[in-house]
Amino acid sequence: MRAKLVAGNWKMHGRLSDNAKLLAEIVEGCRALPQVRQVVCVPFPYLEQARGVLRGTPIAWGAQNLSHHAMGAYTGEVSGTMLRDFGCAYVIVGHSERRALYGEDSDTVALKYKAAVDVGLVPILCVGETLAQREAGETEPVVDAQLAAVSGRFGANALASGVIAYEPVWAIGTGKTATPEQAQAVHAHIRACVTSGGGVAAEQVRILYGGSVKASNAGELFAMPDIDGGLIGGASLIAAEFVAICRAADH
Ligand code: PEP
Repeated sequence: MRAKLVAGNWKMHGRLSDNAKLLAEIVEGCRALPQVRQVVCVPFPYLEQARGVLRGTPIAWGAQNLSHHAMGAYTGEVSGTMLRDFGCAYVIVGHSERRALYGEDSDTVALKYKAAVDVGLVPILCVGETLAQREAGETEPVVDAQLAAVSGRFGANALASGVIAYEPVWAIGTGKTATPEQAQAVHAHIRACVTSGGGVAAEQVRILYGGSVKASNAGELFAMPDIDGGLIGGASLIAAEFVAICRAADH
């Protein structure tokens, strides 16, 4: 049985004082949830604050991006080793906002994935189709290509070192959620794709759903057999929502 994982993506939100309250409320609300792992992925400047509050609690912290380089003359970049210095356990790679707004292609995302694994971080690899791609019946080939960028370069087993987040682009921050059945169909496809070579067992693959998950829809999504938790954007900034989503995953 795969333990569920709920990951918050704060995106570019936060202030020291607001974060202190949010983190304290999450710690308090998420006590005694043995079946669910929790992580908050905060902006880089707040990693030290997250470490200070979350150290010694069951809640892990992580970042939303990293450089694919280990070190060097890359002004403005942050390496995986630096994230490890701040106690990060996870890092999001290939979020659709980075693909769309910062030109990250799947090859770069694959390098970031490997850079994370190399320093002991668990990458949360985001994949998903746009609305136009879904309407053109291209969901599976799009997701396959995004996964193949990692497995083609680093081997099929590489995908077992991370977490996959299926995030249909049309559902992110839009209030439109994939139905549980729509999400389940893609999750089952992803699991079959990752395990098809035989080197990775189904149990080794954790696949999160992301896209307008809220307390009100988390339970029905997490009840699907191939949905192993969620990557939560907007709702992760509201303590009561995030806690309720974690509770919905605790079974
Ligand atoms: C995300 O940013 O990964 C996300 C899923 O956002 P939201 O929950 O706001 O749709």
